Amino acid sequence: MRRINERVVQLNDAETNDNARYVLYWMQMYKRTSHNHALTFAIRKANALDQPLVVYEGLKYYYPWANDRIHAFILEGVEEKRREFERLGIRYVFFLQNGKSSPKQTVARLAEDAACIVTDDYPCFIIPEHNRRIAELATIPVYAVDSNGIIPMSKFEKEEYAAYTIRPKINKLLPNYLKPFDEERVNITSVDLEVECPDTIVVTDDIASLIAECDIDHSVKPSEYYRGGTANGRARLRKFVEDILPNYETARSKPDRDGSSRLSSYLHFGFLSPLEVAVAVHGADAPQSAKDSYLEELIVRRELSFNFTRHNSNYDSLASLPAWAQKSMRGHVEDERQFNYSLEQLENGETHDDLWNAAQREMAVTGEMHNYVRMLWGKNVIAWSPTYEIAFETLVHLNNKYCLDGRDPNSYAGILWCFGKHDRPWMQRPVFGTIRYMTSGSTGKKFDSKKYIEWTKGL
Ligand SMILES: Cc1cc2nc3c(=O)[nH]c(=O)nc-3n(C[C@H](O)[C@H](O)[C@H](O)COP(=O)(O)OP(=O)(O)OC[C@H]3O[C@@H](n4cnc5c(N)ncnc54)[C@H](O)[C@@H]3O)c2cc1C
Repeated sequence: MRRINERVVQLNDAETNDNARYVLYWMQMYKRTSHNHALTFAIRKANALDQPLVVYEGLKYYYPWANDRIHAFILEGVEEKRREFERLGIRYVFFLQNGKSSPKQTVARLAEDAACIVTDDYPCFIIPEHNRRIAELATIPVYAVDSNGIIPMSKFEKEEYAAYTIRPKINKLLPNYLKPFDEERVNITSVDLEVECPDTIVVTDDIASLIAECDIDHSVKPSEYYRGGTANGRARLRKFVEDILPNYETARSKPDRDGSSRLSSYLHFGFLSPLEVAVAVHGADAPQSAKDSYLEELIVRRELSFNFTRHNSNYDSLASLPAWAQKSMRGHVEDERQFNYSLEQLENGETHDDLWNAAQREMAVTGEMHNYVRMLWGKNVIAWSPTYEIAFETLVHLNNKYCLDGRDPNSYAGILWCFGKHDRPWMQRPVFGTIRYMTSGSTGKKFDSKKYIEWTKGL
């Protein structure tokens, strides 16, 4: 692996193919045509090599938790992307691989005619393995580009302990990065270029039937509350900046109100870039304290999660917890659990706790869960599971299955936060030991929990 610059690494040692027909950008995570460092790098490469650019996006049927909801959200962004890439003079290929009999190895086939491959550098879920495999297979250079956060992940060379250790570093670097994005344009248009790859044309009216043909879990229905795509993300961003941001500081902790950005799913799928969001917030007509409060979440907390998954290979296990949290769990492993619910009971929201059931319902129906109840949701699964390991597996499974923003660095960091990650020891309690403890009784008093519970019943 060779570092090219602060956002780009070359993953293999191969030489550029001089007989190529194009440069290939494999768009895996940053599903957008602007504010995209990987796309910009690919355009620069194509222009430097006097080649056109081909952008490939694939959707397979066998990624973990593949279901109608996740598929729909991705497919809802395809039609607009084809239009946008066409406007930019770039050939966009989208392939929906719907089952075992569908063509395979599409990236490898496209790579045969490519000078080099540019791919998204994403630190968790299936992407690191995708990139490792393509770098191993390809006989041309493979470049992985980091367009995840506002500050490049490479600026933090090791795992940060908590928000208080990364915050001063971020604040120092931020003025260099929080500025408008320089977009690039291709010199050679490629919209009509023939490529050796099936191309699935997606129009909104066909999405349901396309999904029905996929060999995926059909039990998790598409969200009626969140629609995929950059245009829908931008519409929500506008509403947030104009109507919600001025009161964000207090309203963000009130699940009974529309008081937070609800942009995490658009950020997860890369429909929106955090830079675009941060610049919009920066320029908004809102109190500085509201902007600071929002940017703390969007930049400090989010980039801490990316730093964690980038540097900790145990990000998907309790082994990534700090020593004090592991010690605390060892000391309380035998503590009696007052309630013990099965995965099925939890998944169906069948516990004694109305607030917890409401949070589970919000997630199961809408595809997101409000941050404030999400913390309580995680803490209670720890209290109600026979072991810490089972609690962790349950949380990862439910979060990643139902949440559109799941399978993200924030998913793992958020769930592990419930077990003490990025936190500090608190007072001794049964089951939790010194890990921070939360109850529905006290959490529910901090907002109108009855209103929230009633709202989820109407979903
Ligand atoms: C158990 C648990 C599971 C979680 N799972 C996820 C997940 O799967 N995906 C996900 O994106 N977030 C997750 N979070 C973090 C947080 O709950 C969500 O980011 C937030 O609810 C998203 O709503 P919003 O966009 O309205 O946030 P806002 O309050 O508007 O915040 C703005 C943005 O900042 C980021 N952010 C906010 N809170 C956090 C946080 N605590 N840590 C890191 N980044 C944050 C998100 O990108 C968010 O969109 C989890 C937290 C917990 C406790």
